[in-house]
Amino acid sequence: MFRQPSRTSAATGAVNPVRVCDTTLRDGEQAPGVTFTEKEKLTIAAALDDVGVHAIEAGIPAMGSAEQEALRRISEAGLRAEVVAWCRATREDVEAAVGCGMKSVHLTIPVSDLQLEHKLGRDREWAARRVRECVLAAADRGLAVSVGLEDASRADDGFVIEIAGELRRLGVTRLRWADTVGVLEPFTGHERLARLVQAVPGAWEIHAHDDFGLATANTLAAVRAGFTWVSTTVAGLGERAGNAPLEEVAMALRHLFRSDPGLDTTRFRALACLVAQAARRPLPTGKAVVGHSVFAHESGIHVDGVLKAAENYEPFDPAEVGGRRRLVVGKHSGRAALRHVLATHGIQADADEIETFLDSIRARASELKRPLRPREVRDLFQRASA
Ligand SMILES: [Zn+2]
Repeated sequence: MFRQPSRTSAATGAVNPVRVCDTTLRDGEQAPGVTFTEKEKLTIAAALDDVGVHAIEAGIPAMGSAEQEALRRISEAGLRAEVVAWCRATREDVEAAVGCGMKSVHLTIPVSDLQLEHKLGRDREWAARRVRECVLAAADRGLAVSVGLEDASRADDGFVIEIAGELRRLGVTRLRWADTVGVLEPFTGHERLARLVQAVPGAWEIHAHDDFGLATANTLAAVRAGFTWVSTTVAGLGERAGNAPLEEVAMALRHLFRSDPGLDTTRFRALACLVAQAARRPLPTGKAVVGHSVFAHESGIHVDGVLKAAENYEPFDPAEVGGRRRLVVGKHSGRAALRHVLATHGIQADADEIETFLDSIRARASELKRPLRPREVRDLFQRASA
């Protein structure tokens, strides 16, 4: 039986309630080579809704009629989550969103001088004017509007504060701060974002990429700085190295920050498998929270510890994320694991037998370069003692 002691020794206090905007269907699908069919999009949207994410960024209307049809069907599917269309800050994109029946749009505008100059040949003044016009146009069309500040991590913080303040005055309630190329680090990131929230209060969403493997850490730093929305994708699927993974962020918030976003986390493993299948990208076996092997134990000391009390070597109950604990017999196994596996086959071995048998197990596992299946352990033991 898994007890729930305070496993939050790393917890440093509660933070504001956090809401999740999942962008697996938009940023996730932008991962190189990934494409979802309309049916897959609908299935993933329904699964995200069952998990309980608060908003689903479902696609990009400007991508044409097939994407628009998928967006229309998702927005009419009766989901509890807010269904959002991702748009550039252009009137054409806003009209395309209206055309497929969307009620909510996310408008994106680059804010770094680097992207404004080298991507668009524009300047800050243009960006401020352009996003203002688009927000007003979208509001005129009756749309709920959030705005994403693209490449904010490489932008001048003073300009970000200025443009964000203007957007708040226009009535934009949710603003996204995007670490578009994943160059934020959590320490200075926390300081910058805390200053931002102080200067421009209201709902801020963090959108972090994983180019340095820091997307989850940066997302948590933003929450600690006062951000109340997190942008995630299932298993971190997304551009380049991907985005902050939904399951990592949610579990870290629950266990390390004492700020549970209220999701049905027991569906995480199934959701990750669903997305991996649709994306044709197998889940890495050691992927945090949802990988096949993250609740498997092989080494002698660990198995012995887990058999005595699971929390000796597990940060949370695997069942919390739809996972399953497995005790694996292999090169690093010890006596306790062997005795346990043999006992599940009704075999009681004495200490000498176990000792001799360990050598055969190690040799066989090294030969196969994988753990042994319980039946293989049994057969090997029976052959050894015949
Ligand atoms: Zn992104």
